[in-house]
Amino acid sequence: LLALVDVNNFYCSCERVFDPRLQGVPVVVLSNNDGCVIARSNEAKAAGVAMAVPVFKVRELIHSHGMKVFSSNYALYGDMSRRAMSVIAQFSPNTEQYSIDECFADLEGMSHVDLRQYGQEIRARVLQWTGLPVCVGIGSTKTLAKLANLFAKKRPEFSGVCHLASMPQVRLDALMDDTPTGAIWGIGQKTAPKLKELGINNARQLRDAPASQLCERFGVVVERTSRELGGVSCFDLEDQPQPRKQIVVSRSFGERLTKLEDLLAALMNHIERAAEKLRAQDCLADHLQVFVHTSLFNPNEPRYANSINVRVPTLTNDCRVLADAACAGLRSIFRPGFRYTKIGVMLPELVPQGMAQGQLFEDSEQGASLMRTVDAINLRMGRGSVSLAGAMAKTGWKMKQGNLSPRYTTRWVDLVSVRA
Ligand SMILES: [Mg+2]
Repeated sequence: LLALVDVNNFYCSCERVFDPRLQGVPVVVLSNNDGCVIARSNEAKAAGVAMAVPVFKVRELIHSHGMKVFSSNYALYGDMSRRAMSVIAQFSPNTEQYSIDECFADLEGMSHVDLRQYGQEIRARVLQWTGLPVCVGIGSTKTLAKLANLFAKKRPEFSGVCHLASMPQVRLDALMDDTPTGAIWGIGQKTAPKLKELGINNARQLRDAPASQLCERFGVVVERTSRELGGVSCFDLEDQPQPRKQIVVSRSFGERLTKLEDLLAALMNHIERAAEKLRAQDCLADHLQVFVHTSLFNPNEPRYANSINVRVPTLTNDCRVLADAACAGLRSIFRPGFRYTKIGVMLPELVPQGMAQGQLFEDSEQGASLMRTVDAINLRMGRGSVSLAGAMAKTGWKMKQGNLSPRYTTRWVDLVSVRA
């Protein structure tokens, strides 16, 4: 058996942990640059704020319902995610983090335990230790655990824990009858209407459809999803999520940039992030790609887009070495007179540290130890505490974050103060 533990309205819940006045108040969180709605509390959903809608389209709604609006605070969300996952890991010897706020937990060998009770214990401990509300779905396959989690979240009668494997068959059938195929994990928005043409409208019909027909029409993933709904496990719990094969860091600017020095500063920030990711997965890189472009949508402005691949003199994850190469690349593709909206860097191939041939440079151990220190300080004190001098922003290239909440958990000055 597997459990899927998922934080309810994760970003909004993170904001609420540190500001109890937000309880019961509709909350929305915006994407980078405050562009679109990417998270909504239940109250905001009920008020009619759609997912991914540009914020200007719902200004009126936000105003009339007294909604609280936040810029995305990834320093906070990332740290809260780490905390929640570490609590969940106490309940199972084998877990797989599936997204920033979801985790599969293996419940193999726990048949003697009352799993509904166990699920309630998970909820209680995550809530008490992190302040985050979660729901728990339990099933014999990943797809069923996902489905159970959906029921746990949407149907109050489950009190946040739904255990499909302990449910009488008629009850399970009725719940599946009530679940449109588009709500099932692995069934995309394009597949659902095509299933409908075959008369497959809900989870039960998909479960009971002939496997060979599904495979022929929709491919192996849909067929496996159908089997999983029937309790045949087709998607294994991975011991470890696949390491990333490449790293891309890019960002649109809050406003347009015209000066080379501003672009260089932005690029160096991206390099720091990319190098940090590289080190986090114990990899090295010996080439990178830098890309820049102007707005691709505004026909009234001169357009320019370019990219360049740059060789780095050695396999490295040292941000100083990578920054030198990236900046040289940018200088060669930068053209004055354009208003740039985006710059990015890609490390297209990652070499695991153990596979690298002997280091050529004597100072590499010194560099590695410096990078470890930089990572340790930035982890404790907040990203950017130690930074390349060139990455310090001189002007307004930084993201628009008009409603950013404090970094409650990763910066001392942002700690919540309590008066008694
Ligand atoms: Mg969630």
